[in-house]
Amino acid sequence: MRYAALLPLLASAALLLASCGDSSSSSDDHLSSSGDASSSGSGDGANPSVAIAPWPGTAVAAYTLIADDFCGGLAGQAHADTMMANRGMGMAFGAMVASCSDGDWALARERIGRGHEIINHSWSHMCATTVERCGSGPTYGPELFEQEFGQSTQGIEQNAGVRPTFFIFPYDESTDTARAYLKGLGYLGARAGEKLKLNGDVFDPFRPNFDVNWPEGQKEGMQQWGFVTGLTDALIAQGHGWGIREIHGVNDGWGPIALDSMRAHADELKRLVDAGKLWVAPPSEVIRYHDQREHYGAEIALAVDTTVYPDLDSLVEIDTVYRIGLTGEPLDARYDGRPLTLVVTGLRLKGEAAVAEQGGRSVTIRKEIRVSDTLVAAPAPEESATSAPVLQSPGWEPSDTLRVEFTPGDGPMTIRGTFLYYAN
Ligand SMILES: [Zn+2]
Repeated sequence: MRYAALLPLLASAALLLASCGDSSSSSDDHLSSSGDASSSGSGDGANPSVAIAPWPGTAVAAYTLIADDFCGGLAGQAHADTMMANRGMGMAFGAMVASCSDGDWALARERIGRGHEIINHSWSHMCATTVERCGSGPTYGPELFEQEFGQSTQGIEQNAGVRPTFFIFPYDESTDTARAYLKGLGYLGARAGEKLKLNGDVFDPFRPNFDVNWPEGQKEGMQQWGFVTGLTDALIAQGHGWGIREIHGVNDGWGPIALDSMRAHADELKRLVDAGKLWVAPPSEVIRYHDQREHYGAEIALAVDTTVYPDLDSLVEIDTVYRIGLTGEPLDARYDGRPLTLVVTGLRLKGEAAVAEQGGRSVTIRKEIRVSDTLVAAPAPEESATSAPVLQSPGWEPSDTLRVEFTPGDGPMTIRGTFLYYAN
């Protein structure tokens, strides 16, 4: 045991003991003020701390594939649907609602069942700005918002069974008033940022950037990255953020993706997911994670009865419980069920295992193993990324990074075990 290394715990332990007396009375996942002292650690191992990871698991970035013009007769989109679903990755299909047949709606419901999202591409696929900006008409203004946005929203909800929460504008052209109208309908976001660009970890959900797959021969200046690996290479090199790719058909439609390219792209996405580097998800899932990460805080408190250890002045082993919860008012029902990855550092487990629970379920605790922490040169993207997470090994050092999946709304999470603890 390297007790000397634990001396910095002395001060923090006193704070913990002074602050955690009432944390056990918390009845939801929002801790009382007891967590203040223990949640502000620097992560250097001196003080337990917890934070919401930028993206689920160990992913450094998120990626979304969107196929526009669903219900427009692009049969080849079935290849994208199948290839992504077979690899466990969801994508999105933008429905032109007035064009959707009963067969299209049946397909929409199947696609939702395969993990995809049906998003709204308006009622009649008209231009929401001007002919100059869209390249063709007809155009419309607020007088048709109820039809283009409201009626189409109801159409998807009634026929696909899920109310849409993400919107893609025909011609990728929108106005402030149009986006505000969608916000009023309960949308979480819209693809209405700049073309040819990635997003950071923090963005306006109603203005995320994206890159369009253009037809061969027209890509010069219109498209930033090649389809198969270009955008994800850039995203991993950036080391954070969200990338959105817009496509239309596979082997058909405007700017078609070749079948082999679609397969190679799906393989590349799966490789990055399996390596723990990338999160691939439909747009509303990405925004749900983003909005919760930016809204909530996370805190950890030691749930120990201070009267039991009044005179301790040295390192002790205690069987105890750490309690993790969120700060911030609960978000509305649109966010229900979307778990967050919490990163915990500074916990020093003695012995074989700790048990984590939330809402009566056991939760797996993953200890992150870094591929390289000692590089001094500017690291290549692969070298600075983390490996796929592995299950905990016996004992935790204060500097260990632990990851747990936390579901807002399911109450506090507890981590029970024998911890080394310095008290005075
Ligand atoms: Zn379109």
